[in-house]
Amino acid sequence: MEYKSITLKRGKEESLNRFHPWVFSGAVASLPDGIEEGETVIVNNNDGSFIGTGHYQIGSIAVRILTFEDKVIDEDFFSERLNAAYQLRRTLNLIRDDNNAFRLVHGEGDFLPGLIIDIYGNTAVLQAHSPGMHYARNMIANALVAIDGAGIRNVYYKSETTLPYKAQLDPQNDYIIGSYETNIAMENGLKFHVDWLKGQKTGFFVDQRDNRSLLEHYAKGRSVLNMFCYTGGFSFYAMRGGASLVHSVDSSSKAIALTNANVELNFPDDDRHKAFAEDAFKFLNGMDNRYDLIILDPPAFAKHRSAIKNALIGYRKLNAKAFEKIRSGGILFTFSCSQAINKEQFRLAVFSAAAQSRRKVRILHQLTQPADHPISIYHPEGEYLKGLILYVE
Ligand code: SAH
Repeated sequence: MEYKSITLKRGKEESLNRFHPWVFSGAVASLPDGIEEGETVIVNNNDGSFIGTGHYQIGSIAVRILTFEDKVIDEDFFSERLNAAYQLRRTLNLIRDDNNAFRLVHGEGDFLPGLIIDIYGNTAVLQAHSPGMHYARNMIANALVAIDGAGIRNVYYKSETTLPYKAQLDPQNDYIIGSYETNIAMENGLKFHVDWLKGQKTGFFVDQRDNRSLLEHYAKGRSVLNMFCYTGGFSFYAMRGGASLVHSVDSSSKAIALTNANVELNFPDDDRHKAFAEDAFKFLNGMDNRYDLIILDPPAFAKHRSAIKNALIGYRKLNAKAFEKIRSGGILFTFSCSQAINKEQFRLAVFSAAAQSRRKVRILHQLTQPADHPISIYHPEGEYLKGLILYVE
């Protein structure tokens, strides 16, 4: 296969020599004639020597490097990467009789920039974040069902909201291989419905698995408020952990319906749980001081760097409400999934909220994303989930 070549400006190869997988548009000296968005291209140094092969895109990141070796990007290439990703999840012991939901591919963290794949039993949900991965979707789907021993039979493509709008790719959310079988998956022995057809992201937030397990250990005898519950992940762990009461809140009534269905699936007719379709701030303002365990897992407040300042104010206000109302001896699980905000900034926002409340607050745990969302050491931007477990007196 003949690929077109992109040449870098002199001296712009430094980060690539350190295996960072992005070529910024400002580093490009010349683009070949007739290059199309999403094409696989070779990236060369200014002296013509080879750097890597990747997907070309219009925008601030011009190329996402797939390999620093001189390789063809074909189905074998994807097979090799997907098998390596699968072996890592095996090593992590995420593939068990009582656990069949996990992230198989976490973009750059699995050396496949622009690609996300979550597994729910026999179904893989594939999300392209770059035109290159959109064009590669059929190769990827074929490679997925061929992973030895994985038993993946259905591949659902869900990229209508993740691809650059301007690329006009018109991706249709649909099965590439197979069809609907069941939407019930399992995480650490708890069952849940995953709505990959209409739900957010790939249908479930697999990235909170380890943090939910920690919550289970703290739940015994506590009255729990799961704020921004989505499909209720934290709620059913709290119930299994022996919480005395669990209230789940989300502004989306669809999310509340899913939460109720999931609680029913695991704890039928258990009257400890109640769900509320309500805005978080409205609920926090109106609630009494009954909770001694509160989870705050809001959506990304800063989707871009330009929104950081307002996002930090948002985190401070939200956490201040929780500090104001949580019972003495209470435990707060507080998160930020904004990639643009780093650990220190988030901790500072929570610190400001704590100081404002004048409560005695101690950090018990510092949390992050689980191991099936690995961070390539060459791509620190892959770190996004931050959390603190706080003891509040
Ligand atoms: N904790 C969840 C994931 C949370 S995702 C889990 O473990 O799966 C963020 C959720 O916040 C979404 O479900 C979204 O509907 C909800 N949300 C967004 N804005 C909100 C608001 N102002 N009040 C309450 N919920 C909100």
